[in-house]
Amino acid sequence: MIEADVLIMNARLLTMDAQMSVFENGFIGVTRDTISHIGKGDSLPIHAKKVIDAQGGLVLPGLINAHTHASMSLFRGLADDLPLMEWLTKFIFPAESRMDKEFVRAGALLACAEMILSGTTTFCDMYLFEDEVAQAAQEAGMRCLVGEVLYDFPSPNYGPIDKGFEYTEFLIQKWSGNPLVSIAVEPHALYTCSADLLTRANNLALTHRVPLVIHVAETKIEIEESIEKFGKRPFDYMESLGILGPHVIADHCVHVDDSEIERMTSHQIKVVHNPESNMKLASGVSPVTKFLARGVTVALGTDGCASNNNLDLLEEMDMAAKLQKVATMDPTALDAPTVLKMATVSGAKVLGLGSLVGSLEVGKKADMILLDIKRPHLVPLYNPYSQLVYSARGNDVTHSMINGRLVMENRKLLSLDLAEILKRAKEEAQRVITWVSKS
Ligand SMILES: [Zn+2]
Repeated sequence: MIEADVLIMNARLLTMDAQMSVFENGFIGVTRDTISHIGKGDSLPIHAKKVIDAQGGLVLPGLINAHTHASMSLFRGLADDLPLMEWLTKFIFPAESRMDKEFVRAGALLACAEMILSGTTTFCDMYLFEDEVAQAAQEAGMRCLVGEVLYDFPSPNYGPIDKGFEYTEFLIQKWSGNPLVSIAVEPHALYTCSADLLTRANNLALTHRVPLVIHVAETKIEIEESIEKFGKRPFDYMESLGILGPHVIADHCVHVDDSEIERMTSHQIKVVHNPESNMKLASGVSPVTKFLARGVTVALGTDGCASNNNLDLLEEMDMAAKLQKVATMDPTALDAPTVLKMATVSGAKVLGLGSLVGSLEVGKKADMILLDIKRPHLVPLYNPYSQLVYSARGNDVTHSMINGRLVMENRKLLSLDLAEILKRAKEEAQRVITWVSKS
């Protein structure tokens, strides 16, 4: 008999490994933070301190939200259905200019609670006061890649941009070697960062061998301005600055032409697709099927809560598939297994965590979720991929394990005090009301 710390048994395992192996009546053993055994059958060779009977439920790798602004959870529903500039200038910018550490911390904890409760185990964040987000993730027991947003204007956190680079270096040093938190360099976008800022950011990322996260080609206006200002489309401009490479994580990539896609392929640019945000802000439809056909790795993100308005990746998968179908007028476009890959194994690759997580394989870190399938909207079950993408919702996730630690059991959050988080979020919302009413 082999010893393990945790044994999950009687599960339908979707491993998301290279062969897309599925184990009926499967089991998975976890020793410390790592997957130590995977198999199938009733005669279990493992003895474990804790045994979880999945009762035939689906067990799969934890979902990866590859682009969000976690603390914007506190702006959920603050102002919707407005033109982008009015939304930004009347609500988001006035509120963000007044925010502080306490706000970011409360918002990040609210987002972590929502993400765990809906099956996300890893997220990539861009915001202000990002050390607070990293601490919140650590407290929640979540895996993350985070970075302080850098731009040309003074920041409520660090002030002038030189301090922004110092703050990013501080984050890199502070969180180096942490099992859950990784740091990226994160210039906001081409239209908010000077050429000098972008070059410095890229050099810093290369020096420390960390990813560079940036919003690219999100709206049509952005492309028009780029051509007017630089005489180039966004990816051509980035190439002229020497900041294309496999370390670049480009969020959105909605308006890109075929020659830019060639460039993205040859430089191994990573893409994060955010379908619900792109729909809500009427940004357009990212050419995801073209990216995938050319071998670009594409992950899935929710973007911030103000433009979504939730962090439910199961819902985001559904939207991603349907948006590509309607945009290409082809019902075979972006099928369910491909979308699930985007939210798991490809998400891990995009964030540079591919060797650690994204699939259930012996030797990988134990990040996984369990879904209860004994619910009316999940019966009958012919195809688990279809069920996950087109029928399931975040609420169906009952258990979540991250790095070997059970953070949710039978829908109860084990790592966070939910009542306290909700109370703090309501208090912060009162401050938000005063911020936007004074603007
Ligand atoms: Zn964003």
